[in-house]
Amino acid sequence: MSVVREGGCACGAVRYRLASEPMFTHCCHCLNCQRQTGSAFVINLLIEADRVELLAGAPEPVDVPRDDGSTQRIFRCPTCQVAVYSNYGYAKVLFVRGGTLDDPSSIEPDVHIYTRSKLPWIALPDSAPAFEGYYDSKKLWPEASLERLEAVRAAATSGA
Ligand SMILES: [Zn+2]
Ligand SMILES: [Zn+2]
Repeated sequence: MSVVREGGCACGAVRYRLASEPMFTHCCHCLNCQRQTGSAFVINLLIEADRVELLAGAPEPVDVPRDDGSTQRIFRCPTCQVAVYSNYGYAKVLFVRGGTLDDPSSIEPDVHIYTRSKLPWIALPDSAPAFEGYYDSKKLWPEASLERLEAVRAAATSGA
């Protein structure tokens, strides 16, 4: 039985509900995420785009440059400009920003990534694995989540 999670921007114009648990949750300590958030890290809930139900508003995409020359599409409330989710060039999977949940404490990261640029005063918990860079999702994700990701990819290639 999964928890119903809702969240939104600061002004309330954008509201969303997650139709299920995320596939996996990242805590990313990379420099791009630090710059984008103006903070120490970002918490990203990886979930199928069609499981993010918009209850109000229409987040607007902004393409933001990253250090590797690629861009990341960040969706912001058109009014208050708070970023609610993003994607990395693959529109079918959204990275919902954990801090925009009504109850951010309801989620814990499944993994800490890019810890090589982690701010030195942050102590990581023992409860989740940590990697200096990225990681192998096949080794870390639960089987059910890997199947969900596979289903998203299969739908994309069949044009659905
Ligand atoms: Zn807003
Ligand atoms: Zn990052």
